[in-house]
Amino acid sequence: MKRKKKFGTVYLIGGGPGDPGLLTLKGKEILSRADAVVYDALVSKRLLSFSPAQAEKIRAGKRGGRRKIFPQEDINKLLVTLAGKYKTVARLKGGDPFIFGRGGEEMLSLRHAGVPFKVIPGITAALGAAAYAGIPLTHREFVSQVVFATGHEARGKEPPAMDWRELASGRKTVVFYMGAKTFPAVIRKLRENGLPGETPVAVVENATAACQRVIEGKLNNIGERILRTGIASPSLVIVGEVVRLRKSGGRDVPGPLAGKTVVVTRARHQAGEMSRRLAERGARVIEFPVIQVEPPASWEAVDREIDRLKRYEWIFFSSVNGVERFFERFFEREKDLRDLSHLKIGAIGPATAEKLKTYHLKADFMPSDYVSEVFADTFLKGVPLTGKRILLIRAEGARIVLKERLEKRNAAVTELTVYRIRPPRADARDMICKLRAGGIDLVSFTSPSAVENFLRLVGKRTFRALKRKPLVASIGPVTSRAARRLGLRVSCQPKRYTIPDLVSAVQKTLAFGKMERAMP
Ligand code: SAH
Repeated sequence: MKRKKKFGTVYLIGGGPGDPGLLTLKGKEILSRADAVVYDALVSKRLLSFSPAQAEKIRAGKRGGRRKIFPQEDINKLLVTLAGKYKTVARLKGGDPFIFGRGGEEMLSLRHAGVPFKVIPGITAALGAAAYAGIPLTHREFVSQVVFATGHEARGKEPPAMDWRELASGRKTVVFYMGAKTFPAVIRKLRENGLPGETPVAVVENATAACQRVIEGKLNNIGERILRTGIASPSLVIVGEVVRLRKSGGRDVPGPLAGKTVVVTRARHQAGEMSRRLAERGARVIEFPVIQVEPPASWEAVDREIDRLKRYEWIFFSSVNGVERFFERFFEREKDLRDLSHLKIGAIGPATAEKLKTYHLKADFMPSDYVSEVFADTFLKGVPLTGKRILLIRAEGARIVLKERLEKRNAAVTELTVYRIRPPRADARDMICKLRAGGIDLVSFTSPSAVENFLRLVGKRTFRALKRKPLVASIGPVTSRAARRLGLRVSCQPKRYTIPDLVSAVQKTLAFGKMERAMP
């Protein structure tokens, strides 16, 4: 007798629209014990960090308008295969699995194959966009119906299943899910079917993500605004009187950086603040992480020093990552803060000192400026250093200026590598496409390794050959020097080397249209 095949369970999980905080607790719990995760292109990569490092991760997304990377039938088959292999398979989808996400098809195929499955709902893009843009989708004084519609058929793609007259009746809020290319067709259809040109419309790009942008207008001028601001996918359109309830009240100028596209190259877990600040000023932000923080090749040296902190008088942290990685290991080894009580603590800059505060530690010393040389000099001035033992927490291959300066003052410095910066296994094809199309106004760098890895990923020759080169912004002199050494022209560097200052400098440079380009 043929034995019935045993399957694990497939969970169709709604990952929410972008902000990782919008994943449900249930979704997170399942991810944390998944053996395999099959995720869509639209899903925030940060959600993957909830799954175990050893889980098999497969990107199966396709994005509107682009080459189909993975046909739906193949995804369906893949889920069945994985369920045959593993106990817990997470199928992580953008928004909610059952709203335009083809979750229905995946469910039917699993049922057909006899694979047990569960569906964990997610926050669909319309709800996320409405909440984060401040547009109540219903309001008793305006409407009591909401429709989620897909715009695709406006371009004649599918048999007309939508009643455009009804959608254009003005009696409901309509949210259109679709690729940005379809917007003009949808707007035309609504007008043709009688919706007045005065009807308020909002377009939300990258809803709920740090780089969310919202533009507002009326049916008769939104098309032109979409073009002017360069709105791209993923975005959706909200049509209806409720759009008026937004606080901005139809502000005309969507920020000083409207229409500008800026690339943020910071590591993914650190890009958020910069992206948000840029997006608040109206920029379209593309996060293209070119560095990734990894553990050192071995923990041996770190463990040794953690076990003998008694011999040091100072501990210095040269970066936020350094603080995080050091303490991760420190606590893993079951130490507690009292093991540091005899140490004086140095932080290289305000961000590092802030990070220390989250561990309830106050830096005894923080330099007035933010580069290592100045740091060393300021430090050297007042402090007796001869014979002092200093533990310097740093990244592999980081600059050794600080060490030299300290040693000149006869301090005994031990460097400790607690993390490595690596280029991620990123696919640069999209980035190259955008650069070639002249679609990027500025690329920002916050470390020398970011410059190096960016050029490595994109290709120095490719970059050199661009007809319209983006401007380059750098956070400070060390990064600028690295950029120049690699043949880039730096157009913008703030006086203080912090993220808010970098963003202000970017704004000044772009808003005043300084047109020097990245390479001579
Ligand atoms: N299942 C998803 C929708 C997938 S269809 C959900 O429930 O949200 C893809 C479309 O959703 C995109 O073309 C876009 O119109 C919309 N979309 C998805 N994520 C978005 C986001 N973060 N911001 C704006 N629109 C988004």
